Amino acid sequence: MVIIGLSTNLDVKNGVDSMPRDYVLSVLRAGALPVILPMLPEDHPKYDEFMDKTINSVDGLLFTGGLDLEPVLYKEARIPQCHASLPERDKADMALFSRAITVKKPFLGICRGLQLCNVALGGSLYQDIPTQVKKAMNHEHPGTPHAHEVSIDEDSILHSIIQSRRLPVTSRHHQSIKQLSHLLRVSARADDGIIEAVEFLDDTPGLCVQWHPENLAAADPRHQALFDWLVSMAKKRR
Ligand code: MN
Repeated sequence: MVIIGLSTNLDVKNGVDSMPRDYVLSVLRAGALPVILPMLPEDHPKYDEFMDKTINSVDGLLFTGGLDLEPVLYKEARIPQCHASLPERDKADMALFSRAITVKKPFLGICRGLQLCNVALGGSLYQDIPTQVKKAMNHEHPGTPHAHEVSIDEDSILHSIIQSRRLPVTSRHHQSIKQLSHLLRVSARADDGIIEAVEFLDDTPGLCVQWHPENLAAADPRHQALFDWLVSMAKKRR
């Protein structure tokens, strides 16, 4: 069975590792086994070795949503509107991501996962869209399945998967890509220009979206297709 590793979030208030069920269900629908990866404590005595073994234990990765990344990771001073970060999560995500790139493990980055990908590859983020992007629309619509539409580039891998130029998406993010990594290209934008999806300029098997396809995948096969792509790529590269 194809195994997809899911990066864990932490319910800080209750001290509970957490995984929204829609991620799990979307991977199950794609025919793979979702395995929730532990958020390794920063002081784990064999941190790097454990992460090496972790990446070898999965066929693909799903970088899930979560808290803001610490701005120091993209060499910026934090502004007051940037939300709290979680050093343990930042370290674990960066460790998994760098290994995924090195061994070309297929991955899908969602929301924070997209931001992680851009930052890990040298890009930066708007720490708060309402504060830093003039004329941006509101991208924080919790609980709204179709918050806005995105325009997808016709010559992108994303388009070959989604097979639509326009796609209604969720939107519950207050950050987005500012400086794009030189290794990435934009594959979808919102109508206000905010970057909503990226992919690689080379053949690295990674796709990232700023919206939450897992929330829409049960009802709309175009969103499920992203998880199907991940699992098929993972199967191919086993
Ligand atoms: Mn949005």
